Amino acid sequence: MINFNYVKPSTQKAVTDTLGKDATAQIIAGGTNLVDLMKRGVTAPEKLVDITGLPLKNIEQQKGFVRIGTLALNSEVAESELILKKFPLLAKALNAGASPQLRNMATVGGNMMQRTRCSYFYDTAMPCNKRKAGTGCGALKGYNRMHAIFGTTENCIAVHPSDMCIALVALDAIVVISGKAERRIPFADFHRLAGTNPDKDNTLQRGEMITAIEIPDNDALAKNTVYLKVRDRASYAFALISVAAALDVKDGNIAAVRLAMGGVAHKPWRLTAAENFLKGKVPSTENFKQAAAIAMKDAKGFGHNNFKLKLAPNTIIQALTTVSTQA
Ligand code: SF4
Repeated sequence: MINFNYVKPSTQKAVTDTLGKDATAQIIAGGTNLVDLMKRGVTAPEKLVDITGLPLKNIEQQKGFVRIGTLALNSEVAESELILKKFPLLAKALNAGASPQLRNMATVGGNMMQRTRCSYFYDTAMPCNKRKAGTGCGALKGYNRMHAIFGTTENCIAVHPSDMCIALVALDAIVVISGKAERRIPFADFHRLAGTNPDKDNTLQRGEMITAIEIPDNDALAKNTVYLKVRDRASYAFALISVAAALDVKDGNIAAVRLAMGGVAHKPWRLTAAENFLKGKVPSTENFKQAAAIAMKDAKGFGHNNFKLKLAPNTIIQALTTVSTQA
């Protein structure tokens, strides 16, 4: 680990000013991913900007939405009575991630900013375009069992590792970002596909920080929900495939449905076409199979991860079956 400076500003403006002035500065809060990356030499910020002194921890009902501060701990969100009542899908996804110890340290903003767990990214002896542009992608023809099947390029086939973010994209959350000005963007637009510059995980600009997440009220999404995570171990393992599903059935037909998948792409993967197909239809196995087939259009395996081409639709069907039997 290289030497670095440490500052702990007492205002949001001081944080964003520092980030704007110093290209090598990085925010630290729980540090559950960043410290690992620094120890392994994957990243070497010259300045760490500790934001844990800022008042950005609240989880509160506001008019038409619930606002969660960027510093709310993953465990606090998962255990919040408000979240359990209004967005159980989010609590389920959070509890499927990491371990209790990590959830007690990791923040909402940090969860969003965590880097891929691609093993080539963490091994500084291996080529990796995300770690060092232009060096190639070790996973493309290497061991790629955990890697993406959607939205890939030959530059990078990594997946975003978060569970929480899969629920948030399904819930149409909004990301509140502050910098020179405050801006709000749909959660689906926060993370990005690798494209030609996989070093960039998201659309945050220099001098900006996440301050909160806002989830619009929607009672229909609180009734029947599941976060189905298929992984190598029963706990403390990243998703091979995960599906966040919420379903509302009225008069025998699907009135509202949300679907998103994890472990499949460089960003949380919303299944909009499958949702559109299901709306107004009867919640039947046949319709769930067709929705899964629609969701899998354009999926592509890279060898070791070809099993995901079968596991993903089966997980979608299982998740939809689970929520429909709750309805
Ligand atoms: Fe690096 Fe992405 Fe390739 Fe992994 S998949 S080696 S993160 S470029």
